[in-house]
Amino acid sequence: MHCTACGQELNLGARFCSNCGEAVAAPGWARHPAQRLVRPIYGRMLAGVCAGVAQHFGWDVTPVRLIVLVVVLCGFGSPLIAYIIAWIVIPNEPLGVPYPTSAPPSPPSGYP
Ligand SMILES: [Zn+2]
Repeated sequence: MHCTACGQELNLGARFCSNCGEAVAAPGWARHPAQRLVRPIYGRMLAGVCAGVAQHFGWDVTPVRLIVLVVVLCGFGSPLIAYIIAWIVIPNEPLGVPYPTSAPPSPPSGYP
């Protein structure tokens, strides 16, 4: 990782260049911190728990729903209770967040 202004070698995670003081572009994971687990407003079927979990881990929501459905139908443990707890615990996605039309930008290719 190098300063974009002067090319100075920077410590991993540095926020400012030690040579010129230029603010260092944060790596992708810092600009887009791991998405909080939320229940999305869009694309939910019931409470949005499956959609939220799938979105959080970058999975397709359909297999997540199928697995949950199978688990519920088979009655392993108390999946319905777990679902309701998740419904209560996982916050709603904040309003005003635009519907994501594309994946978040990936980190610059030059980042180690
Ligand atoms: Zn610099």
